Amino acid sequence: MAEISFSDALDVRVSWALLQIDHLAWPEREFDLEMVGMDLEIAVSGLGRRAYPDFEVPLLIADVAQLVCWFEGGFREAALDDEISECAWCNDGTGNPCPIHD
Ligand SMILES: [Zn+2]
Repeated sequence: MAEISFSDALDVRVSWALLQIDHLAWPEREFDLEMVGMDLEIAVSGLGRRAYPDFEVPLLIADVAQLVCWFEGGFREAALDDEISECAWCNDGTGNPCPIHD
């Protein structure tokens, strides 16, 4: 497992807090805020990927359902990648995924 540092978790938690403040202060900038939210989703799901195979949600994000959801998404992606890398049918040399992983 790759360690998720306190500062990695703090970065995404601070970004989440800033996003909430921006939503309150500038609701008319919805499009910009969506873009920031997407960047944050990518960052948090990246933490979930790095956590695999030990599912341990960093305490700094554990109380925010949306952050936990993104974290779980990344974790599940890593688990699926792992499963595919072990799948005999996906790795039969044809380069095609099996029906289960297609
Ligand atoms: Zn497969």
